[in-house]
Amino acid sequence: MDISRRDFVKLAAVSTAATGISAIPFSSAAANQVSPLAIQSAIPLSSASCRGTSPAAYPKGVAGEEGLRDLLAWFDRLTSANSKMVEKRRLGTSKGGYEISGFFVTNPAIPNEKKQTALIALNRHGQEAGGRVVGPEILNYLVSDDAREIRDSQYVIVIPAMNPDGIAANKFNSSRTQITNLERAVLGPVVKATPPDVMLDYHSLGQSNGARNDRGDMEVIITANTSRWGMDEQAHQYIGLKMAEACEKAGWPYEVHSIDDLWVYYFGERKIGNQPWASLKQKTFVLDTVSPVDGYNAPVDDTEIETFEDPVGYTNYICAPAYQQYHTAIFGAEVNHWSMTRTEDQAKSGLAPCEALLKLGCMRFPWEKDPGYPVNLIHGDFRHSIRAVGANAAELRASRIRLWNQRMYFDTPHRFMPDPTTTVSKVRYIGKDLPLEFAICLRMRHEKINSVTRGNQEVPFETFRDSCSTYVFVPIKMTKPGTVSLTLKHPVY
Ligand SMILES: [Zn+2]
Repeated sequence: MDISRRDFVKLAAVSTAATGISAIPFSSAAANQVSPLAIQSAIPLSSASCRGTSPAAYPKGVAGEEGLRDLLAWFDRLTSANSKMVEKRRLGTSKGGYEISGFFVTNPAIPNEKKQTALIALNRHGQEAGGRVVGPEILNYLVSDDAREIRDSQYVIVIPAMNPDGIAANKFNSSRTQITNLERAVLGPVVKATPPDVMLDYHSLGQSNGARNDRGDMEVIITANTSRWGMDEQAHQYIGLKMAEACEKAGWPYEVHSIDDLWVYYFGERKIGNQPWASLKQKTFVLDTVSPVDGYNAPVDDTEIETFEDPVGYTNYICAPAYQQYHTAIFGAEVNHWSMTRTEDQAKSGLAPCEALLKLGCMRFPWEKDPGYPVNLIHGDFRHSIRAVGANAAELRASRIRLWNQRMYFDTPHRFMPDPTTTVSKVRYIGKDLPLEFAICLRMRHEKINSVTRGNQEVPFETFRDSCSTYVFVPIKMTKPGTVSLTLKHPVY
């Protein structure tokens, strides 16, 4: 079945009509569910300054224009109280005249060239009340002692209120099918100047949305709109599962879902007996709605901005161009504004996947040579791949982006063993972006590699290990199109 974008919108609208109330106001949280301890630790927004001075970052709900103004003022206070590590930049202005700001958090004593870049965006959809307290909680965490290692090794950009007009009106105020022009204007320059290594887009589920068959209390980590190129699908799942594990440890039952599930989350009939459509068609359709050439710079027809109180729709597309252009690792998160009645729970639960992700960015993934987000495997698989090269995070990022945009000019790497002591690698590049530097990386059973030869010449190589194998990392410089052939000599296994 061929589904047009128009049908997508119509189908989404049909699903929307069936449901009722969306967000429970935080002020109406049932008193009998709030423990005395929680009341004690609840500090009003106006008095919360930064972590260390209050146990709860942001216990007050944000509602209406007043709530939004409180929220923006709180961000200013946090920035001035932590000016050594937080820089605020105004990135845009909403139609209603509210600022849309980015908060750039890092340790300025360490050069940014040595750091990975993370971009966290929240509150694209105005009625999704849960996300409103998560942004402050994330910033509060980022300025705390607990986040020192993150500040030392990463440059974290938080955009906590992408859609202030929607927040003020408690309405969706966005598009269900595309990145809006305002989002393009806000994100485009930031992403271009600082291509992210990882990106996380926060949303929030309420009473009337969740899975098609399970609504009201889900929280989800979404391995977002990526492709199966290289090992990306597996790498994203790996990260998602690690994030969920950390969330569970902290007491928050997140699920990991991939984009295949999205139609099952949001669309279609809820009647018992209806079969979901084939997941491949669903996935293909959702991916097809993302333009491969969109770099946040292609204006769209904004007449699709919709002001429902609670539409049912999924647009994680805010991240997709970063993946397409820069091979950014992209994720979504759905927090919840219905099942948790205490705002501090919403905030803490919301922080959990972000904290987990940022901590993962300080580690070395088993198949990566260097610590950081696993975005350097550009082509091939874990056993035989083309990798980015560079002496620091900035060089690796530049190399990765360049190679990613040349990926279609590489053949899939060939590997074979003519005898038990020899492994041969052949990689062909027919593009024009020359001279080109990259690495060929092979995963081996052998602990020791005797030599690597290119043509008749021995070439330098590095090795690193995971729990059971050795990766052989061979830097390559190509000056003309053709095939690189490497011969590895190793003991018999
Ligand atoms: Zn949303």
